[in-house]
Amino acid sequence: MSKKLKFQSPTGMHDILLEEQKYFQKIYEVCEDIANFYQFQKIETPILEETELFSRGIGFSTDIVGKQMFTLRTKGGDYLTLRPEFTASIVRAYIEHGMFNLPQPVKLWYFGPCFRYEHPQAGRFRQFWQFGFEVLGEESPVIDTQVIQIFYNILREIRLKKLIIEINSIGDNQCRPYYKKLLVSYFRSREMALCADCRRRLRENPLRILDCKEEKCQRIISQAPQMIDHLCESCHSHFKEVLEFLDEIGLPYHLNPYLVRGLDYYTKTVFEIYEESPEGRALGALAGGGRYDALTKLLGGKDTPGCGGAGGIERIINLMKTRQLRLKKEREPEIFLAQLGNLGKRKSLRLLEDFRKAKIQIAESFGRDSLKAQLARADKLGVKHTLILGQQEALEGTIIVRDMASGKQETIKIEKVVREMKRRI
Ligand code: AMP
Repeated sequence: MSKKLKFQSPTGMHDILLEEQKYFQKIYEVCEDIANFYQFQKIETPILEETELFSRGIGFSTDIVGKQMFTLRTKGGDYLTLRPEFTASIVRAYIEHGMFNLPQPVKLWYFGPCFRYEHPQAGRFRQFWQFGFEVLGEESPVIDTQVIQIFYNILREIRLKKLIIEINSIGDNQCRPYYKKLLVSYFRSREMALCADCRRRLRENPLRILDCKEEKCQRIISQAPQMIDHLCESCHSHFKEVLEFLDEIGLPYHLNPYLVRGLDYYTKTVFEIYEESPEGRALGALAGGGRYDALTKLLGGKDTPGCGGAGGIERIINLMKTRQLRLKKEREPEIFLAQLGNLGKRKSLRLLEDFRKAKIQIAESFGRDSLKAQLARADKLGVKHTLILGQQEALEGTIIVRDMASGKQETIKIEKVVREMKRRI
């Protein structure tokens, strides 16, 4: 006997059904509006990229590259990886299409799914959606502030309140190596008190220890040397200016000296945005990003500064639901088109197109034949008028207009019906 088949979506990956689509749509519209205002161009990149793009770009010793990539080998023997984030792909596209020849900076935005082999839990999935904004070819700190402002504005437009920006500078290739040494010597003398993961990080990527959430590590981290005290002159003045610009536009931020983020390409400014509430904190950062001045060169392009960030769509939707943020109601049809008989059905099909061209929302149920069933459907939809096109009307070139509240019916010429209904609704 054959076994009954029962398929489910893969672990940590979800269908996006009607209810969710409305939230996705809302976030997309807000992003698009903001992108238009700040003059960002939309970009789409392939979901798969050469594995090395990510391992080089994001960093060999990061969790994303070490543990979380979905990698496959093609029949031709190439290694491709489902994108775990967008920035490396955007920089690849910038280099590949010679965008350094365009007037700088080049401002790009995107919206799409990412993939990370994570342990699924609240706010953490294996397939999740991000929107993001990237600015390439400009090193001024005003860009860092503008990028942060864009993410803040998007979250505010979605009507999330109590937002807080966490910000730090993690220096650059000039000052970070020295700070790393300080950090290693500090943690090495306390190695036995660290969790197993942090002991490994101490050898592979000591900065990431600062990100550990284990309580015993947290106690040690709170006394650790801070990057901000060891920035070189240029990183220091860059960061100071970013903060001054943030003050100028009145955005609420909190200096977090231990914010490092999970990707190796960052230099100077890094930021995350949270909702300042126990649920918001538990959910994690809604958006995050920073400057990546060394990435374009690392990926084979010219030395080009960059700055950007990404927002996590599922996390934002989760909070929108918790806060019961209402979405704009969709335009509902006010008219229903009922048909009877073969000729009636044929003419109705044509008439529906006339309404579409006139941009009038109209519902139908062409699969049904009984008038009673169609009127019941019209009732359920709560339309104000039902048009009835039967065999006789089709022959005479007329149509019945029924007022659903009073039940009153009148017959009019079919060629006048679109104009007439436009007048009535
Ligand atoms: P990142 O690329 O890690 O800086 O992440 C940017 C944003 O994407 C985060 O602030 C989250 O909102 C979201 N995000 C990252 N990883 C996940 C995940 N596994 N599931 C859901 N959202 C995520």
